[in-house]
Amino acid sequence: MDISKIGVVGAGQMGNGIAHVMALAGYEVRLSDVSPEALDKAMTLIAANMDRQVSRGKIAQEDRDGALSRISSTLDIAEIGQTDLVIEAATEQETVKQKIFDSLAPHLLPHTILTSNTSSISITRLASRTDRPEKFLGFHFMNPVPVMQLVELIRGIATDQETYQACMKVVENLGKTAASAEDFPAFIVNRILVPMINEAVYTLYEGVGNVRSIDMAMKLGANHPMGPLELADFIGLDTCLAIMNVLHDGLADTKYRPCPLLTKYVEAGWLGRKTKRGFYDYRGEEPVPTR
Ligand code: NAD
Repeated sequence: MDISKIGVVGAGQMGNGIAHVMALAGYEVRLSDVSPEALDKAMTLIAANMDRQVSRGKIAQEDRDGALSRISSTLDIAEIGQTDLVIEAATEQETVKQKIFDSLAPHLLPHTILTSNTSSISITRLASRTDRPEKFLGFHFMNPVPVMQLVELIRGIATDQETYQACMKVVENLGKTAASAEDFPAFIVNRILVPMINEAVYTLYEGVGNVRSIDMAMKLGANHPMGPLELADFIGLDTCLAIMNVLHDGLADTKYRPCPLLTKYVEAGWLGRKTKRGFYDYRGEEPVPTR
């Protein structure tokens, strides 16, 4: 099937990146959010990010102008339903995602494919509540979307081959590479990455190292481009905690217990870069460790 119109629900870090790459690849994009402020911020950010790509010679001015003209924003979920492919990229909470799919249901076209950018939640369970589990797929982008090459495609138990192929074609049109993952908690990338981040938070919690020494150790000692705590701030500490909880609940193994210090940061509303404070404080010129 041919996909030309894409609806993106959730205009946060991931939603704005997804809208950005889809529009540049020639798709018509409708972006929505519950928060008008988030939506305005996303539209401004997409334009600013594309301007930066133009100034760095990565895309031409005409590409930027064309892409921006293909993105519209809406607070009306009905408009999102009238598309060929919906990518849900709202907050990592199952109840939030379920409500979105419930509210989309009356507005969908018969052929609309539903997908979720969830980092960890069961695709099979999200699909089972919709009227089209065979047209439901996990479509998991990495952050920042315009930069990262990988997309994980996760089939639920009922997902049909046509849906998988249609989404695979979208990934190819974006010039990205798909890794196929089975539908188990946190799939491939986050099953490996987020427990490492959680372990870094335990290392901090137990006083083995401070924020700077832990990040420096992993950058210079393991050749990671970013330290694990810096990366946690980049992902969002609420998202990291939500993923650990899904691993802990879904695999019933105590090795996935979230570090109490990670919980405490989230309780404080220190969610990382997006709230300007996490393991680092981003309110000044240079990030300053908070521990
Ligand atoms: P975010 O906090 O930046 O953005 C979430 C957005 O969802 C917010 O703008 C919020 O207003 C909106 N939202 C909440 N409830 C909504 C609703 N009912 N309808 C519409 N919008 C709603 O989060 P994010 O980092 O963009 O993460 C979004 C999703 O992408 C999550 O499922 C997350 O697990 C996944 N993801 C995140 C990363 C990452 O590194 N941050 C990477 C891959 C996937």
